[in-house]
Amino acid sequence: MDLINNVVDLNNFLSKHKSKSIGFVPTMGALHLGHLSLIDFARSQSDIVIASIYINPTQFNDKNDFLKYPQTIEEDIKMLHAKNVDALFLPSQSVMYPNGVDNLPFYNLNDIDIILEGAYRPGHFQGVAAVLNRFIELLYPNFIFLGEKDFQQVIVIETLVQNYFHDKNVNIVKCPTIRNENGLALSSRNKRLSENGLLTASLISKYVSNSILQIDFIKISPKEIEADFKLYLLKNGFEKIDYVCFANPYNFKQLNQWEKDARLFIAVYLENVRLIDNFKIL
Ligand code: AMP
Repeated sequence: MDLINNVVDLNNFLSKHKSKSIGFVPTMGALHLGHLSLIDFARSQSDIVIASIYINPTQFNDKNDFLKYPQTIEEDIKMLHAKNVDALFLPSQSVMYPNGVDNLPFYNLNDIDIILEGAYRPGHFQGVAAVLNRFIELLYPNFIFLGEKDFQQVIVIETLVQNYFHDKNVNIVKCPTIRNENGLALSSRNKRLSENGLLTASLISKYVSNSILQIDFIKISPKEIEADFKLYLLKNGFEKIDYVCFANPYNFKQLNQWEKDARLFIAVYLENVRLIDNFKIL
């Protein structure tokens, strides 16, 4: 596995593999089996697999979250090496933001960046768009593998590609959420939870499978289920809820009545850690 941290080495690597398809897996490190599943998809669908580890400062609207973001670079390198990744791109801030981070362009993301998760994390998706825009310009990957764990992020990046790279052969591949044996979606931020916190966090998916997915949806409205779920979470140790809501998975508007493809989106706080998850419902 090549370790690359500058543009010259990256271009040399890319020109060596010019005729091959490139699969790209962007990450912020602290890797877990969710990330590795993206590597497996990339391996099976592209000739060359490039992963990146870069904790992107512009997508953190909370400075503390950025400062506390877990870093396990030695272990990450071992895991990627064991997965036969061809190159690990580890860029510095000056490689990603050669003109600094203060006057970034505005990306038109069809307003998906300001709704739901975007409304609770102002500027977050503009930061995601900025970093992905730079990665795409540097790599022009044929495929970018992204996890549905961050469902709205996938649609934001798909929109970025449609709006800014429609004439390039860049394809987004959505990969399913990987969960632990208790149903908890794997996340780098789970590393900041206590053992007890991990058990509490798994109540999210338990409630969805044991209660919500058993409901006769004709008899009860989205808003009623949301209210019951919020009460359940607050009673069971979650400290704060940003949102628990059924929404349309293309425009992220909240649902007042059921419609096809309804998806449940959740953002909650536990032990001061913000956890997000989502589930296909209909
Ligand atoms: P992150 O390092 O959190 O920025 O995530 C890098 C990529 O891994 C993103 O496309 C995430 O959606 C994806 N990812 C994170 N957790 C999971 C998971 N549990 N299952 C599948 N993909 C995931």
